[in-house]
Amino acid sequence: MTDGAGSTVAVIGSGIVGAACALELQKRGRQVTLIDRSSPGRGTSFGNMASIALDFAAGSGPSTWRKLPRWLMDPEGPVWLRPAYAPKTLPWFLRFLAAGRPSQLRAIEDAGMALTRPALEDLRRMLAFANASDLMTEEGCLAIYEKDEEFTADRAHIELMRRYGFDFQVLKKDEIRDLEPALSAHVAGAVLLPDNKSIRDPYKLVVTLVEAGQAAGARFLSGEVVTVGKSTEGCTIILKDGERLQFDDVVVAAGVHSGAIARAVGEPIPLETERGYHTQIMKPGISMRYSIIWPARAFMVTPTAGGIRVGGNVELAGLQAAPDFRRARVLVRHAQRVLPGLKVEDTSEWLGHRPALPDTIPIISPSSRVPNLWYATGHGHLGLTLSATTARLVADMILQEKPSLSLAPYRIDRY
Ligand SMILES: Cc1cc2nc3c(=O)[nH]c(=O)nc-3n(C[C@H](O)[C@H](O)[C@H](O)COP(=O)(O)OP(=O)(O)OC[C@H]3O[C@@H](n4cnc5c(N)ncnc54)[C@H](O)[C@@H]3O)c2cc1C
Repeated sequence: MTDGAGSTVAVIGSGIVGAACALELQKRGRQVTLIDRSSPGRGTSFGNMASIALDFAAGSGPSTWRKLPRWLMDPEGPVWLRPAYAPKTLPWFLRFLAAGRPSQLRAIEDAGMALTRPALEDLRRMLAFANASDLMTEEGCLAIYEKDEEFTADRAHIELMRRYGFDFQVLKKDEIRDLEPALSAHVAGAVLLPDNKSIRDPYKLVVTLVEAGQAAGARFLSGEVVTVGKSTEGCTIILKDGERLQFDDVVVAAGVHSGAIARAVGEPIPLETERGYHTQIMKPGISMRYSIIWPARAFMVTPTAGGIRVGGNVELAGLQAAPDFRRARVLVRHAQRVLPGLKVEDTSEWLGHRPALPDTIPIISPSSRVPNLWYATGHGHLGLTLSATTARLVADMILQEKPSLSLAPYRIDRY
């Protein structure tokens, strides 16, 4: 038995990150309580684009800077800043821009790629333990380019994949439709990313992981956490109804809401919501083998267990603003350009909140204020992809085992 086996851990948040942490910690001998104010998997992890995206790309950088002014002028473009929200997000936005400086960019890419490199293997291991391997498809992803200029504009990304030894294959025009007949003949180019698998149903994945954790002995507790403090033995969690709960260790994995908990603990972090939309099309009239990403338009189309999902883009408008589903509909229109047979019948629309830090890399870290308090948050566009790796690293920290990679870049005190 590991030293400290049977000691108690609370994981706050039952999204994909919290569910994975809870399962891993329970599996490795801790007595886990997973706490959520809602039911598992109903946050951002419900509706993401289901992609295991190993080709980490920093959000900010010279190529983003070049595109941003044009994007920000267009409410239907890939990135939109609602004018009323601009003053509120300005400090975060300036940090985001600064993170793209060439002097920082390489370190951010190294840190991101260090997490994505083991991600597929970690996910496979987690799925196998939860008896859910069939939730992952074995097909890859196609990055598509409608015009040659789009391919040229994406060269920094292609160069990045080359530099980090990421497997990819540039396809000839006549190879594209052989692989994915649903695509229009107008698609000028594509790159196959064979290792970017996808999950058939991201919501079901979270529920399955929570159930696997429970089957291994973890328990689920309904409650809203207000703050976490130091206690003589470990940590005290204070719930909204005033109840106080005692644990040896506590992990904050509350997605974008981790920011409120960190603030209450006294260590504010620049966590912003990068809002994104999806449309789930239950009767798409086509079938697809690969997921598709269209970098120039910053969105994806993913075949899922229940039809086809179209989604992505970024809206900076905070947590409270009402959804603007025009942003979801424009993506469906773009999707129909490259998938001419796509029908839009029996649909549902969804808005989600990516927990985004200015430098694109998550916080996987001990608290800088409260002993035995840990953070697993800020996964931005890659929470699904990085869930199992994050869980393994969080368990390594709590069990005081040597992690497989340096955790220095993910520390909370970098802010
Ligand atoms: C449109 C879109 C597409 C995306 N596509 C992909 C993709 O293809 N691949 C990928 O890897 N990632 C993708 N992402 C990102 C990914 O979905 C997120 O990074 C991930 O879901 C974050 O998971 P989480 O567990 O941190 O947060 P959530 O899933 O938001 O879970 C947080 C949980 O914490 C609970 N909670 C919050 N506050 C409290 C509190 N005070 N007390 C108790 N409980 C609390 C919430 O109820 C919730 O259940 C996408 C995101 C969006 C929006």
